Amino acid sequence: MTTPPFPAPTTAELAVVSAQLGRPARGVVGIAARCACGNPTVVATTPRLPDGTPFPTFYYLTHPAATAAMSTLEATQVMPDLAALLDDEHVAAAYLAAHEAYLSDRAQFGEVPEIDGISAGGMPTRVKCLHALAGHALAAGPGVNPIGDEALARSSWSPSTCRCDDPGAAVREPEASTA
Ligand SMILES: [Zn+2]
Repeated sequence: MTTPPFPAPTTAELAVVSAQLGRPARGVVGIAARCACGNPTVVATTPRLPDGTPFPTFYYLTHPAATAAMSTLEATQVMPDLAALLDDEHVAAAYLAAHEAYLSDRAQFGEVPEIDGISAGGMPTRVKCLHALAGHALAAGPGVNPIGDEALARSSWSPSTCRCDDPGAAVREPEASTA
């Protein structure tokens, strides 16, 4: 789990992220969470992409097994259950604090007026996207985003069990040429 500042992503890390996404990674400013093997699971993305597009989802879940698990959870009608947790004033307050922490982390990479005050996943009062909320929970660590924590707890995926196509590819030392 990592919040800003981040070390710059390496070429190997960006290659793994691009493979996970099935398209070139754009605007990645850091690796915010990792699989047990070291591969990225969450990237931090600049709030304005290189082409100028505002991008609110600062913590973006990239790992295919993780995104699939969140899609499965969303399809099992867990969203109303998670939203109901916000009826508890302590959970609601924690979720609001998570929203503010999210905006604070993102603001370190520039203010973007189009998304001012907008975080991700439905924060601070709704539950709309478990991918975004789990991404934040993985980056910030347990105890910051209560809904993201709960989504991960109910998920079949965990960063402690590697399910990568190429385990450790992001952190492997470049092999010496044998040519
Ligand atoms: Zn892995």
